[in-house]
Amino acid sequence: MIILVINSGSSSLKFQLLNMDDESVMAQGQVEKIGLPEGIFTIKAGGLKNKTNLEIPNHEVAVELVLKGLVETPEVGLKSLDAIDAVGHRIVQGGDTFSKAALIDDTVHEQIAEYGTMAPLHNPAHLKGIDACAKVMPGKPQVAVFDTAFHQSMSPVAYTYGLPKQYAEKYKIRRYGAHGTSHKYVSHRVAELMGKPIEELKIITCHLGNGSSIAAIQNGKVVDTSMGFTPHEGLLMGTRCGDIDATAVLYLMKHENFDADQMDHILNKESGLAGVSGVSSDFRDIDEAIAHGDHNAELARKMFIYRVKKYIGSYVAVMNGVDAIVFTAGIGENGPDVREEICADMDYLGIAIDAEVNNVRGKEVNVSAAGARVQTWVVPTNEELAIAEETVEAAFGKQN
Ligand code: ADP
Repeated sequence: MIILVINSGSSSLKFQLLNMDDESVMAQGQVEKIGLPEGIFTIKAGGLKNKTNLEIPNHEVAVELVLKGLVETPEVGLKSLDAIDAVGHRIVQGGDTFSKAALIDDTVHEQIAEYGTMAPLHNPAHLKGIDACAKVMPGKPQVAVFDTAFHQSMSPVAYTYGLPKQYAEKYKIRRYGAHGTSHKYVSHRVAELMGKPIEELKIITCHLGNGSSIAAIQNGKVVDTSMGFTPHEGLLMGTRCGDIDATAVLYLMKHENFDADQMDHILNKESGLAGVSGVSSDFRDIDEAIAHGDHNAELARKMFIYRVKKYIGSYVAVMNGVDAIVFTAGIGENGPDVREEICADMDYLGIAIDAEVNNVRGKEVNVSAAGARVQTWVVPTNEELAIAEETVEAAFGKQN
């Protein structure tokens, strides 16, 4: 079975073509700068990388370009578009409607559009990708895979904010979480690696990338997660502030005369590692600045680590224990020092890692110290594969 996975943003569209018979990647790439005078189309397949600059006025042209590229690049090995069985789309916000992936029909389409009010930068852009596929490949099954779905198992105690009920209900304000596809994938994967049913495990998954979130997973179900109504809440991220006293935001708006959009931009695009360090949102740049004696970068790095540690501690408390801690995404997979510093001085909780074994990047490895009660793992995430698996299940009613 061949599945096309699409992550459609407002000006970009990433894709991956997967052969689910052996879970191999047949091709991947992206279309960038859609709607700008000069767009970029990149496709990689079997050692080949082709980059073309051309005008890409809209998402429909972008999808046409991708499909043409897939069929006309011999390295992909796709005979015709008919050989694609279904398309899976990453959708950021599915609200409280979707606890699993859904085959896209008019109703699902409408619901994704409605949740656009909560995710204005994402859901409308996803719909552009969906509509473009429907036009270029009419009748092809399309599946929506929601970033929020895995977190729908949280109880009201974990997802409700302390706001007056009438506002929370009217505007559906509650914790939804994000990165659900990744948290689900790595938690299932670690259970497999540990050789235990996920139903018997307490797992804390740390997805640490440019956007970062943590989830507490018990019996295969999310008990709590750090992202909230939007992906802003929780950890210190590349450019997001994360947890902050809401009234500090009001104070700033009042005294600087910021409107909601300006404040949104500051909180989501100018804060976090970038805002505190004044250097960069990228962890590698932060490390380089620290090596040159930059104290603001050092503070930003320490804050990042401190907050991850705090969340791990609180999730151990919430679950009354933990069997496995998983690190994934850009920083989680590639930052041995970060993992070591997060797990330092946690022996009280049974968490300890082996510095030598931990000196690893992008591989599935149990990095726990000998005798540690809790297993600490690095498990590279694979959101595309997870989306493809859920697409097969939703479109054809079976797990590949
Ligand atoms: P996103 O998918 O949210 O854009 P990623 O998961 O790609 O983000 O993570 C990006 C972060 O991972 C950046 O802060 C980057 O510095 C960090 N990162 C990526 N590769 C490495 C590496 N080899 N060593 C240390 N950090 C890395």
